[in-house]
Amino acid sequence: MPRQITLADGRSVEVDCLSCALTSGLIAPTGGVIYESSNFHVHQDVAYPIRGLVILASKRHFYCMDELTGEEQFEYITLIHKIRNEQRNRLGIDKVYYFYNEDTTHHFHIWMVPRYEWMNKFGKSVESLRPVLLHARNNMNDEENTRSVIEGIEILKDGMRGFESNTR
Ligand SMILES: [Zn+2]
Repeated sequence: MPRQITLADGRSVEVDCLSCALTSGLIAPTGGVIYESSNFHVHQDVAYPIRGLVILASKRHFYCMDELTGEEQFEYITLIHKIRNEQRNRLGIDKVYYFYNEDTTHHFHIWMVPRYEWMNKFGKSVESLRPVLLHARNNMNDEENTRSVIEGIEILKDGMRGFESNTR
């Protein structure tokens, strides 16, 4: 069932699956592609302007963890490990929250959400995640923070340059 989706920059598109639209290149994520291989695609959803936040999505359309092929399983953890390493070394991110669910209209993707001091007022652990994301979306869209988020994307792109996630 196609749905109308309004992008962060105000453009509106009709897609069956937002992950398919993003990973196939039909929609260009704001800030650009951080990394991609034949199986996976890494980008940031700037609708939630948190520096260093990363979304890792499969290119293939499926929903559940047990649908990953053997090759994809290996590449998936290799990529998460590499991204996490770049978040730490280049952006100084000490802790990351990972969020993934199978009950979604977008296909297989995991959120890697950096944990910053300001998030503590929303509590800790899983229950703080939604309030944190909403706070960022509604209150952190100022020019200075947006610039910082885009800069974070560029720094991560640099870190991922030349990386080959699908070779053992
Ligand atoms: Zn899809």
